[in-house]
Amino acid sequence: MKMYIGGGWTAGSETREVRSPFDASVVDTVPWATPDEVEEALASSVRGSKAMAALSAYRRSAILHDAAQLLRQRSEEFALILTREMGKVIAESRAEVGRAAETLTLSGEEAKRLCGETIPLDAAPGGEGKFGFTIRIPCGVVLAITPFNFPLNLVAHKVGPAIAAGNAVILKPASDTPLSALKLTELLIEAGLPPEGIQCITGSGGSVGAQLCADGRVRKISFTGSRDVGAGITKMAGLKKITMELGSNSPLIVMPDADVARVAATTAATGYANAGQSCISTQRVLVDRRIYGDFLDAVIPIVEAISTGDPLDESVRMGPMIREAEAQRVGAWVEEAVQGGARVMTGGGERRGAIYQPTLVADVDPNLRISREEVFGPAVVVTEFNGIDEAIALANASQYGLGAGIFTENIRVAMEFVRRMESGNLMVNWAPNWRADMMPYGGLKDSGMGKEGPKYAIQEMTDMKMVVFH
Ligand code: NAP
Repeated sequence: MKMYIGGGWTAGSETREVRSPFDASVVDTVPWATPDEVEEALASSVRGSKAMAALSAYRRSAILHDAAQLLRQRSEEFALILTREMGKVIAESRAEVGRAAETLTLSGEEAKRLCGETIPLDAAPGGEGKFGFTIRIPCGVVLAITPFNFPLNLVAHKVGPAIAAGNAVILKPASDTPLSALKLTELLIEAGLPPEGIQCITGSGGSVGAQLCADGRVRKISFTGSRDVGAGITKMAGLKKITMELGSNSPLIVMPDADVARVAATTAATGYANAGQSCISTQRVLVDRRIYGDFLDAVIPIVEAISTGDPLDESVRMGPMIREAEAQRVGAWVEEAVQGGARVMTGGGERRGAIYQPTLVADVDPNLRISREEVFGPAVVVTEFNGIDEAIALANASQYGLGAGIFTENIRVAMEFVRRMESGNLMVNWAPNWRADMMPYGGLKDSGMGKEGPKYAIQEMTDMKMVVFH
């Protein structure tokens, strides 16, 4: 595919292959942008920001609704691209396309609700006879940098609100998964977006991404990705508005009054979805010691039943990780946990290319890397606790704070969890791995800053002006 800069499609001067993580076959090639092409995209986006700011809210909303409609019509085509470039199973790709269409629709609705407020200036001494109000204005050029794991919906979560707010957007998708982002760009142009309202530039994060982040013409950076890259971007960015959606090692607390069968099914469904490559994947299951054995007995057969293989095969439940090296890394962390006294209850060891078997590791010391760091793969760890205080202390013993869940029938315990958990998203009677696209979504601590969800992202992609009539 070509990339989209300066209001047109260009093959670029250099190209790179996009390969399937399942069988390493070449899916397509994309340009590998040079510094001059980055400069062209930046200059074009400044012109684009003027064209975007001139569009009415009605028009911006209509473009987003039309794009969502086109995406629904072509959902199977997009699902196939997602599975080929990223390796998620086809059912998950279809679900992601549906969610991306919903995210664009929600953004289109929010475009019509961008409003300020009146400020009662006569409530201040000397404020008599004055009339004040705020208006929200687009910030200009929004830079959207996205990760590989949800290559379409996480792009929609940045591009949708940026357009709804009247900004031009420069999109830099992950190099492993640029195809769905390029296809979405095509579809937005077809839906009537001004030609310079978007740039979709493919190339290395370390060079293209860094050049874009450091440039003064960018007013707002919306980044989703790993903590270390996010931390580097905040240093490069200088005086810009920033949203950071970073990683996590999300905990799930299981109290003794929980329905063990339900917890087991939920753990298997949320710890291995997308081969565990979700920022809120259920990673650390903390179980009350009174039901620890019952939980392991219930969960092991469900994890064992997760079939792996070709993600295009409708009967397969889990596909490959994004790269073979990532599967090797998860394997090394599991080995290290075993050396540290943990027990592999199922999975472990067997790796076929980038496919790592769904793995459950019990008796895990929370100081081990597999518990302390973000696994971002199909390995779930189990640790026992004694009482809610210890459970919350263990759950909070992390530099991250993105998602957390608890299973309990006791409302007081649930409220303790709500009050004391250091996490941006809290699930009561479900696992951390749950998100509706309209809700405010974002982390505490090293999981980042700012919120996504179109209504909330639009606030972060606009500036507030205060107006006083004297
Ligand atoms: P990543 O390695 O941090 O890459 C994310 C994006 O940043 C890619 O587009 C990458 O480009 C780009 N990039 C790399 N170095 C850069 C630099 N120096 N300057 C500017 N951009 C740069 O993350 P990933 O492996 O794709 O995604 C996995 C991570 O994302 C996990 O930690 C996961 O938890 C997190 N995540 C968080 C959320 C959330 O909502 N909180 C959602 C999904 C994922 P290249 O691909 O070209 O390197």
